Amino acid sequence: MGAMTTRFRCPCCGYRTLDAPGALALCPVCWWEDDGQEDRDASEVHLTVNGQLSLEKAREHYALYGAADPRFLPYVREPQISEL
Ligand SMILES: [Zn+2]
Repeated sequence: MGAMTTRFRCPCCGYRTLDAPGALALCPVCWWEDDGQEDRDASEVHLTVNGQLSLEKAREHYALYGAADPRFLPYVREPQISEL
């Protein structure tokens, strides 16, 4: 089932898709890779796993297109009820 598992909210799309915070996991809903970036430094570009993408920009993209970047659209999936 997995319903008992505590999951962490993706800092980009806000769904509970991550097993641990900042574990460099790729969110299947928005394709943001969680490198530990959060609200406090959302506008910064870390130039790590998300390349030129800042968390702020990725959130903007997610709101507009449904992915952290439009080029990730072929890979993302809809959030599941358990991830809300
Ligand atoms: Zn996400």
